[in-house]
Amino acid sequence: MASDAPLYKNQVMLLSQSFFIKDNQAELQLHAHKYDFDFRFFNEVWEFVEAVVCDRGHSLFVIDLDALHNMQSDMADSRKTLMLSELLQRLPQDQSYVYLQSARQGGRFLLQQRLVDSNCLAYAEKPIANDVLVDKLFNLFVQRKRGDLVRLMYLGEPVGLDDGALMHRRLEVIHHADAQTLHLRVKELQPDMVLITEAEYARTEAIVRVLKKNIEADPVREIMLLQRHPDAGVTERALHSGFDDILMLTDPGVLASQLVNRANKIRINKDLIGKDRATGLLNKVGLQKKAQDLIRRAARENRPLAFGVVDIDKFKTINDTWGHYFGDIVIKRLALTLAPSMGEDDLLSRFGGEEFVMVFWDCTLEQGWEKMDALRQAFGAIPFEVKPGDVRRFSFSGGVAAYPEYKSENELFLRADAMLYEAKQGGRNRICQRPAG
Ligand code: GH3
Ligand code: MG
Ligand code: MG
Repeated sequence: MASDAPLYKNQVMLLSQSFFIKDNQAELQLHAHKYDFDFRFFNEVWEFVEAVVCDRGHSLFVIDLDALHNMQSDMADSRKTLMLSELLQRLPQDQSYVYLQSARQGGRFLLQQRLVDSNCLAYAEKPIANDVLVDKLFNLFVQRKRGDLVRLMYLGEPVGLDDGALMHRRLEVIHHADAQTLHLRVKELQPDMVLITEAEYARTEAIVRVLKKNIEADPVREIMLLQRHPDAGVTERALHSGFDDILMLTDPGVLASQLVNRANKIRINKDLIGKDRATGLLNKVGLQKKAQDLIRRAARENRPLAFGVVDIDKFKTINDTWGHYFGDIVIKRLALTLAPSMGEDDLLSRFGGEEFVMVFWDCTLEQGWEKMDALRQAFGAIPFEVKPGDVRRFSFSGGVAAYPEYKSENELFLRADAMLYEAKQGGRNRICQRPAG
């Protein structure tokens, strides 16, 4: 082929010599292609290492430890079998690796310890079905994207937290000065954590009750007291009045680490509740919450929003003809088509089976239609090889509605869904919109 442009977006470099993988190369490749990535197979450690060094940050590196049985150490004086420690030493240290091991290897704790301490991104036990392995690798690609911001509201005198460094770890700190208005700010910005210093608490004892007793308060939000000196009396009163936990201020660096760890847990919990496992996108729950936040922000900043719903055409036929598994792949490819064109402030959700919702920030009805129509064309151009030599193309239909014409998340959804219905009635493979009135 004339072009050097890669056909697939991502690559998995696999170091392996075992029959397990060898016999499965073609099938692995077929599955991977449908998820928009490509396998490159390596037999030699030095070739693999060279590929790792040359990588531009788009690949995953997988090492099948059974490869060790067949590999020769290339130290000049001995032709002995390559040892694990020798292999690990040769791997570039600035990358991380996925290790495939046998159940027997997995049972040996010392070996596990070696592996997880050796730039281990993840490990998997064999036997593992080709489609399962490909699915797990796909999830690793998805996870590699930056995590969502977690938000902390801080009330009290500064204690030397490095806000910039925390932001880098995806924790945003918002300082608030006035205890009397904290509840309003919390309502507006919906932080995941609130940290209140002892001094502020002493001044305004009711503060945590005001935050907690609001029926609309997010029940998973953590409200914490920052104590300078251990004092069992204060701690007990604080816990009694509604604080979830107490943090001790020993050192700003220690406090920052504690906050980052908490933020990471909160992020994982939010992802489990609010995201779709198969695609890594927001699910219905996650979208509803984020869309409500975005509508509040649009109201504050006086910006329009476009709210779109899309649904794959004749999807039942796709499932019935080529199987449910192939149907899932079409869904993932649609997710991969939509995701890169979303802006930093936009939302994308897998709302239901083969139905997606997107919210475009600072975007009018007309602009939203244009974006969705471009996506419709991009998806329609993707060739799906349903069988060797048999290439098909699929389509979706969509509807758009806009804020402020429609005010709430529910109204926007109903209107966009009604427009989607029109698109289906009108013959599918189109996006419908109509200004209200
Ligand atoms: P239309 O063009 O009118 O949308 O026709 P359609 O066949 O796509 O109809 P509809 O949208 O109602 O069909 C959705 C089907 O998608 C029904 C369900 O069996 C299937 N489905 C839902 N979730 C999944 C999923 O996660 N994977 C797969 N493979 N199929 C799913
Ligand atoms: Mg549907
Ligand atoms: Mg459909």
